[in-house]
Amino acid sequence: NLVLDADIALIGLAVMGQNLILNMNDHGFVVCAFNRTVSKVDDFLANEAKGTKVIGAHSLEEMVSKLKKPRRIILLVKAGSAVDDFINKLVPLLETGDIIIDGGNSEYRDTTRRCKELLKKGLLFVGSGVSGGEEGARYGPSLMPGGSKEAWPHIKTIFQSIAAKVGSGEPCCDWVGEEGAGHFVKMVHNGIEYGDMQLICEAYHLMKDVVGMDHDEMSQVFEEWNKTELDSFLIEITANILKFKDKDGKYLLPKIRDSAGQKGTGKWTAISALEYGVPVTLIGEAVFARCLSSLKDERVQASKLLNGPKLTQFSGNKKAFLEDIRKALYASKIISYAQGFMLLRQAAKEFGWTLNYGGIALMWRGGCIIRSVFLGKIKDAFDRNPELQNLLLDDFFKTAVEKCQDSWRHVISTGVQRGIPMPCFTTALSFYDGYRHEVLPANLIQAQRDYFGAHTYELLSKPGVFIHTNWTGHG
Ligand code: NAP
Repeated sequence: NLVLDADIALIGLAVMGQNLILNMNDHGFVVCAFNRTVSKVDDFLANEAKGTKVIGAHSLEEMVSKLKKPRRIILLVKAGSAVDDFINKLVPLLETGDIIIDGGNSEYRDTTRRCKELLKKGLLFVGSGVSGGEEGARYGPSLMPGGSKEAWPHIKTIFQSIAAKVGSGEPCCDWVGEEGAGHFVKMVHNGIEYGDMQLICEAYHLMKDVVGMDHDEMSQVFEEWNKTELDSFLIEITANILKFKDKDGKYLLPKIRDSAGQKGTGKWTAISALEYGVPVTLIGEAVFARCLSSLKDERVQASKLLNGPKLTQFSGNKKAFLEDIRKALYASKIISYAQGFMLLRQAAKEFGWTLNYGGIALMWRGGCIIRSVFLGKIKDAFDRNPELQNLLLDDFFKTAVEKCQDSWRHVISTGVQRGIPMPCFTTALSFYDGYRHEVLPANLIQAQRDYFGAHTYELLSKPGVFIHTNWTGHG
């Protein structure tokens, strides 16, 4: 047999699969490729993978026979039933200790179910978030693997070699946690991405409609911001987008319909937040902002009927106000990540997972859409205190928010006065103010609930004792 035993197999020769195979090949691993439509295997070997060490298989049996043991098989197929179909076909061909990895965008509950089912059959299952799109898959994605931990020593070298690197070569990949934890973390990553994008949009809206800046000027400001704490992929591409000119020499951005689409991962994060009772308000608002944007026709009608404040020309100090916006964005971003990690903590509690929080920040530090210098600071915070209850309680972030808060409040009040919608800036500030209040007005809610529904309440002086009052004094 002239063919070397392959280190790993990959099923699913669409964009992601092909690029991940070439990435693994670059790092010296022998990969065996397979696809449901088998002709794509030969096409791939003859074209994209020509001259590489990649081998192919024309059946799952052939693929399995070409693998070193324990066998490692990555699925990069459409999320949903395609994953179950392949698992069902693979199970009879595999042996105890073999590993199936799902790198698609699967729902975390599916991953937990698959993990449990396969464990009963002696097989190890890993659900890995993969972020960074085509480019990431080819040259270094962010990888978020979770599931059966016994699989980790067998896949660690491959995963960490192909992942994006930051700093002094640290890989953006580490073990996330049990069962569906990898896919849960990927979902929260996507939710945070929605929040980051909306925050940038709100800053852009203020620059455009309050300050009255032109596109080149706004682009320059984002370029400047990218040299500050906000240094990130999304700020960088925003600077490029703002200055981009169409073939007719005019800016492209204002020609684009202001109606945002979504594939649902942000929505799933918000649903999880509601389900587990965690106030992840910023991601929720970011999802709703997209929903409101998509009501374009209705908004066009409403804009003719509903009045707001009269817009006067901006007369403040432009430079100072731009710095205020930058600080408002930074503070809001800190709140968003604090909320995201609150959701992760609650999920860990809910499912009995032990999550690697610092590792998660490092996995998002490079390779993915939310990659930023800021995530390094989050990693540092969890390194300082792995049990950190909330990011806002870490000294670095506490001080950062305090330094921003005057600007943050000023921007919000100015925007509100001028009728600019800023759902994420404002919800972030409300969250901050709520979180830092020892006393909130929820005592009144308790009284109301007891009044109309005899739901009882607890006195501050008698914790744990629930009493009911006859509020109307009758009967
Ligand atoms: P995709 O379009 O989501 O899926 C295409 C692949 O799935 C093909 O190999 C296709 O085989 C196979 N497939 C579809 N339905 C199947 C079925 N019922 N049974 C068996 N195989 C089936 O491909 P992709 O964009 O490369 O993404 C792969 C996975 O990575 C997805 O879960 C996606 O959500 C996730 N992901 C994508 C990105 C991205 O930027 N594209 C980023 C991160 C994660 P045939 O060739 O036979 O049709």
